[in-house]
Amino acid sequence: MESSNETTLTCYRHPNTPTSLRCNRCGNPICPKCAVRTPVGFRCPDCVRIQQNRFYTGGKLDYLIAVAVALPLSFIAGYVFTFIVARIGFFSWMIAFLAAPPTGGLIAEAVWRAVGRRRSRYLSTVVMACLIVAVLPFIVLILLSGNFLGLVVPGILLFLGSGAVVARLR
Ligand SMILES: [Zn+2]
Ligand SMILES: [Zn+2]
Repeated sequence: MESSNETTLTCYRHPNTPTSLRCNRCGNPICPKCAVRTPVGFRCPDCVRIQQNRFYTGGKLDYLIAVAVALPLSFIAGYVFTFIVARIGFFSWMIAFLAAPPTGGLIAEAVWRAVGRRRSRYLSTVVMACLIVAVLPFIVLILLSGNFLGLVVPGILLFLGSGAVVARLR
């Protein structure tokens, strides 16, 4: 393989696959199977991984911090929605609709600040899981009381709240 002729290039990961594509960052020849299409052109999987690691600057500790911040806040939110918002009466559902997204956003914002604004791949997933885990006891409580309509308000918190979390921490 001394030749530098473009037609004799082979994929750097599949030496038997001829290709004319090159990674536009490192220049490695890549076959169409290995090439990853990015907004800036085709890249090899190694360069894509390096790029992602640079984007996700958070360490494993950030997940612990996220749980430590999101779990108690979500529990408070679950309590407020179940025992205060749900008992307002006529406007409960509307207030829940209006309050759930900012509540989720607030929890996400608190986590975002606590982790020093570092990005982590699963940060939004972890915070969402905290919200679900924290609201679950209230859901169980409502189910035990047999007041199934009471599920609506914490349900709204879960759905719209996690939506806001994902939007904020994406
Ligand atoms: Zn590359
Ligand atoms: Zn390949």
